[in-house]
Amino acid sequence: MPSSKELIEMDNLYGAHNYHPIPVVISKAEGVWVYDPEGKKYLDCLSAYSSHNTGHRHPEIIKALKEQADLVTLTSRAFHNDKMGPFLKKLCEVVGPHVSDPKKSGIMALPMNTGAEAVETGLKVARAWGYIKKKIPKDKAQIIVCRDNFHGRTITIVGFSTDISHGRYFGNFGPFTPGFTTVSYGNAEELENTILELGPENVAGFLFEPLQGEAGVIVPVEGFMTKAREICTKYNVLMIADEIQSGLCRTGKLFAVDHEDVKPDMFLLGKALGGGVYPVSAVVATTDVMGPEIISPGVHGSTFGGNPLGSVVGIKSLEILIEEKLAEKSEEMGKYFRKGLRKIAAMKTKVPIIDVRGKGLLIAIEIIGKARPITEGMMKKGLLAKETHDTIIRFAPPLVITKEEIDWALKIIEEVFTK
Ligand SMILES: *Cc1c(COP(=O)(O)O)cnc(C)c1O
Repeated sequence: MPSSKELIEMDNLYGAHNYHPIPVVISKAEGVWVYDPEGKKYLDCLSAYSSHNTGHRHPEIIKALKEQADLVTLTSRAFHNDKMGPFLKKLCEVVGPHVSDPKKSGIMALPMNTGAEAVETGLKVARAWGYIKKKIPKDKAQIIVCRDNFHGRTITIVGFSTDISHGRYFGNFGPFTPGFTTVSYGNAEELENTILELGPENVAGFLFEPLQGEAGVIVPVEGFMTKAREICTKYNVLMIADEIQSGLCRTGKLFAVDHEDVKPDMFLLGKALGGGVYPVSAVVATTDVMGPEIISPGVHGSTFGGNPLGSVVGIKSLEILIEEKLAEKSEEMGKYFRKGLRKIAAMKTKVPIIDVRGKGLLIAIEIIGKARPITEGMMKKGLLAKETHDTIIRFAPPLVITKEEIDWALKIIEEVFTK
């Protein structure tokens, strides 16, 4: 078997360098633990960017995946399959109570594969809803987005990113899709003023992350989501919550919008919906927003979307998140983890920790100095976390983590910061 070093060289030789990974190779995983080919074990504090909420290789998810692999794996949407319906029913039952449905029109879902595809789908639905239902004049639809957003990597999505590292300014990817306007994250007044400037009759949607993950675990100002909901209702603008990273129990609630009991018009889901084994994403909205008038045959699709393998994985992931009370666990363990981190921050370490923040088990520390040597130092001691931007380190372990495992992580973090 090739060594870690040989495997990393192979990646660098044959793979485009679109990532800058921590120099560790993972060849086996279970629960919160991952192993390299040499047999060294590490605690995973990234969870594939919050995809492993149910833990690596949850036995029930793997069982469902294997059983389905012996039946049928892909039909395309040219035919029906016997797993997509039950998956979408489950998804609508779980997400439905969190969706704003003033007309009681009912809930429906559109399955895709990756997060970026769910975002693209949501944008198309919002524009189509704008033209068909809100009667926005042709090609005038506007969608408002937030500064420092992260919604994926398609040309349209990076076009409305404000993060230079995602290529808006330095990337050679333009020209970009028009029709997007940026507002500050957390500033309701600016949101309302921007709607008025654009003309409320032209604004189809407001796209936001209820907690900005990639931006460095930014929790919105308290009350922002409530005010944004009021403004969206007032001007008949769709409130579109990208819960691809913050959703499905990661922040201590089923959804991060639940922290303010806010009901968006549309949810974008991905990452943990696939149980860490298979890409599954979806848009969930009301029939009023996504019904047959808006989305009709041929206007949107994907060959793998709604496939039986992904559908059984999606059903199981949702069941486990609820049955194992992972929202409550995330809340409790997140508090415990942050308390431990604050203790380390108070030690006046060599590299100062100036902030500990987050909700549930989506946590970040901000330091003075470069984060990369710290994450590499933690890796050498058996803890995997990834820096975001230069000075922020995110901790997002699988939600099945125990207090003892958090203590183990805290000990390594303390050692790296004090020695
Ligand atoms: C990861 C992420 C996406 C994109 O998902 P991919 O599966 O990588 O395309 C979109 N929005 C948010 C908030 C994310 O964290």
